[in-house]
Amino acid sequence: MSVRITDLCIECDACLAECPTGSIVESDDNPTGEDMYYVNPATCTECIGDHDTPACQAACPTDGCIVWDLPYDEANKSHFEDNDVYVLGDDAANNQVSRPEISMEDRKSGDVECVIE
Ligand code: SF4
Ligand code: SF4
Repeated sequence: MSVRITDLCIECDACLAECPTGSIVESDDNPTGEDMYYVNPATCTECIGDHDTPACQAACPTDGCIVWDLPYDEANKSHFEDNDVYVLGDDAANNQVSRPEISMEDRKSGDVECVIE
């Protein structure tokens, strides 16, 4: 990760087919048990190598619904391990790629939409 789907989600499914890494699951398959869509941080690439901007956000009709999260890497391992938003299992902190142009300030805020200008 990467990106996170918030409770603004209206479960329209528009993002599911657009994700090049199959990282988005519906509420029923959310490993946390929460009734909301979920992005697997271990496989989300922020669309690096596939698109110029996150394809999920581009497809999403809901403003502010999909936001930046911290890079999914060793340096931020505790963020993902100590957060009820995630269930990581054996995938914890596998140093997934992330976009360096996104500031840590924006990522930490938790409410900056994953748009690339
Ligand atoms: S940013 Fe890209 S890889 Fe990550 S969940 Fe969205 S569409 Fe999938
Ligand atoms: S496109 Fe946006 S509103 Fe629709 S399911 Fe995905 S995150 Fe939710």
